[in-house]
Amino acid sequence: MAKYVYDFTEGNRNLKDLLGGKGANLAEMTNLGLPVPPGFTITTEACRHYLAEGAVPDGLDQEVAEHLAALEAQMGRKLGQADDPLLVSVRSGAKFSMPGMMETVLNIGLNDESVHGLAKQAGGNERFAWDSYRRLIQMFGKTVLDIDGDLFEHALDALKGRRQDTDLDAGELQQLVKTYKGIVREQTGQDFPTDPREQMRLAVMAVFDSWNAPRAILYRRQERIPADLGTAVNIMAMVFGNYGDDSGTGVAFTRDPGSGRQGIYGDYLQNAQGEDVVAGIRNTIPLEELERIDKHSYDELLRIMETLENHYRDLCDIEFTIERGKLWMLQTRVGKRTAAAAFCIATQLVDQGLITMDEAVTRVTGDQLAQLMFPRFDDGADKKKIAKGMNASPGAAVGKAVFSSARAIELAEQGEDVILVRRETNPDDLAGMIAARGILTSRGGKTSHAAVVARGMGKTCVCGAEELEVNTAEKRFVAPGDVEVREGDVISIDGTTGEVFLGEVPVVDSAVVEYFEGAEPADELVKAVDRIMRHADAARRLGVRANADNPEDAARSRRFGAQGIGLCRTEHMFLGERRQLVEDLVLASTDEERQTALDALEPLQKSDFIGIFQAMDGAPVTIRLIDPPLHEFLPDIVDLSVKIATSQDVTEKDRRLLAAVKRLHEQNPMLGLRGVRLGLVIPGLFAMQVRAIAQAAAEVPGAHPEIMIPLVASVQELEAVREEAVKILAEAGVEALIGTMIEVPRAALTAGQIAEAAEFFSFGTNDLTQMAWGFSRDDVEASFFSRYLDLGIFGVSPFETLDREGVGRLVEIAVKEGRAARPDLHLGICGEHGGDPDSVHFCHEVGLDYVSCSPFRIPVARLEAGRAALSESESDTR
Ligand code: PEP
Ligand code: MG
Repeated sequence: MAKYVYDFTEGNRNLKDLLGGKGANLAEMTNLGLPVPPGFTITTEACRHYLAEGAVPDGLDQEVAEHLAALEAQMGRKLGQADDPLLVSVRSGAKFSMPGMMETVLNIGLNDESVHGLAKQAGGNERFAWDSYRRLIQMFGKTVLDIDGDLFEHALDALKGRRQDTDLDAGELQQLVKTYKGIVREQTGQDFPTDPREQMRLAVMAVFDSWNAPRAILYRRQERIPADLGTAVNIMAMVFGNYGDDSGTGVAFTRDPGSGRQGIYGDYLQNAQGEDVVAGIRNTIPLEELERIDKHSYDELLRIMETLENHYRDLCDIEFTIERGKLWMLQTRVGKRTAAAAFCIATQLVDQGLITMDEAVTRVTGDQLAQLMFPRFDDGADKKKIAKGMNASPGAAVGKAVFSSARAIELAEQGEDVILVRRETNPDDLAGMIAARGILTSRGGKTSHAAVVARGMGKTCVCGAEELEVNTAEKRFVAPGDVEVREGDVISIDGTTGEVFLGEVPVVDSAVVEYFEGAEPADELVKAVDRIMRHADAARRLGVRANADNPEDAARSRRFGAQGIGLCRTEHMFLGERRQLVEDLVLASTDEERQTALDALEPLQKSDFIGIFQAMDGAPVTIRLIDPPLHEFLPDIVDLSVKIATSQDVTEKDRRLLAAVKRLHEQNPMLGLRGVRLGLVIPGLFAMQVRAIAQAAAEVPGAHPEIMIPLVASVQELEAVREEAVKILAEAGVEALIGTMIEVPRAALTAGQIAEAAEFFSFGTNDLTQMAWGFSRDDVEASFFSRYLDLGIFGVSPFETLDREGVGRLVEIAVKEGRAARPDLHLGICGEHGGDPDSVHFCHEVGLDYVSCSPFRIPVARLEAGRAALSESESDTR
């Protein structure tokens, strides 16, 4: 029978799938001999069973009872025992951390009797006992009984008035317990459950259920965490940070998660219990001050932090509690960090001898690199600084101030940039945080909810800007000097410095982009990026090319490290003034007229290619012959019809144009006359392009063209155009590979035949995705993808990340059969997926030779190709 419960002494850090991150790391710390309160973990498997079947698995209750009995024996007191109670916490903990998204209940085991026993345990501290009891009812009421948390908050606020919660005395807290119980009775029709075991059982199920809370679902989607993992549940003997001033609770990082610098970094809250810190209920003090308050615990904490960092060989974050001068570790994990910190920390750890350069490359991600390529505020610009908070998550964000998540979502949907301004955020603000360009709070430290979540999302965030008086009800805030900002006023926030500015501040390129453009690495971050990129480049097997169709983009992509052009879309060269020439081509009614139009286009094409060959300086350039439907170059059918119907002086040419537009009009242009079909229907069009390529190549020494035929579905199509192209190239004395795109499912399925006539394949996964799913790529993302994401039909758009199961299978078939027919077949990808991290890993795994992507994604693709080569296993830093 499956084992559903593990004592902390039985697990270890490698069991995250089963015990969740928190459970696995609690076990690891226990085994390291660190002071962890005893407890046990219910597995994710039990949760999955519960969620699927609506009931806990057979045997779970029995196992929990046995582990609880062992815990009681170890602690020498029973759960909820009236005169001397054992209390436990029940905490969620999934494989990947989902901060604040799921539930936790503390102080399980308290009731009207055991509250007195607790007071006795605490040396007669009645205040402490009643405070713990009211916290239990509040947390249990909200989490397990689904009561609106505001009802409890309002009752607490009404009682304390302008005082702090620590100012409430035992009598008042006892009164509050009564009020809370009344709320429970009123809202649920039942009394607060007083049986400690029943409390625990209900709390465990509530934690299981919280896996499917809306905010948890949203967070998983955002972070691409699979929906079917489930959460583990950790049950742990309670330790108390709210005994008095010799107690407290805190969070800490082993180094700065914002910059990577080593140092004491964390927040401490005296006389408080766990959740108070993250929730930003009272303002915390910097961790350094603990040295003054409790030097013994402080020194021990620093020693433990060093042990953890050396053991995990990475930045760790921790939660701890001090109970009457005794330090307890409640959690640790490899900590989330900003993109900049990720690069700096990885190279620092190499320099400290803790990890290798290979590992350093796997410790950073392409998404993090992409974040570093975001613009920042222009140092030279005029700025009106109105406040400074904490630099919680870097970047530069400009937008209209809004004061609620709902409004943030509403304006973002209208295409507005917004900054979400709150006193503090809570997990219910998640959707608003996603919609906003940046987040600004007036309370809470760098470990507050806003800060942690924003960093995880890579969203700019300034938190704890205490000079701001935020009034969300009146939708405004006031900064020092009576500067008032109302909803809709534009502000700019700098998540790298913590500054808040009135109005719009202009933004400039990032130092990392300047480095890729050729600047010498100057600061620590850019030096770290440089080292990691060099190592990734040396390690990767995949080549990286660019999708570029003009000399500027070609040159930039070369500077960014492209080893060639994987897709030069020639249709972009037929726009602007040249549209008229294309129009003439379409309207031609005789061979001569057509030839005249083609003759006019040829020198223009030739000069386009010369520019690109020169920019690429001998690197390969894959030129795709014209692809999209011709009518895209012609006037809109409705506009033209209206013009002809209403205008006085309609020319013969107008009429011919309308006739041609009507003739070429298609219901489904994406499945119509485009790609190779166009080349076969308009005589001379492809030949003109091939001639222009050949002549341009002949003029640029070292030019390295490759000719690519789009939208081929059958080898016969390819053969028909290939024959002519080979002849033209031979006449010009130019060598060029001739290949095809694999964009139509039939091409993938007949790749063995197609490879007979193609020297290379480039997977056009935009079309291949569109045609494999039967989705119009121009229409569906806006129309129904959000519904599909809600329904979990896919976790991410298949146009963003390659759908391995379906489209990926077509690619695998084509790779296998293509290479079987032609062993030296060269293989690449040029759909948008070529710059997507997960898809790059897929391309590595199926053995492509290169990926091709837009110029700005090239560094990302280089890094991910290196990571793919170095890390067959997944990284820990998510
Ligand atoms: C593709 O289909 O993946 C491709 C690169 O071509 P386009 O996007 O131009 O259709
Ligand atoms: Mg295509």
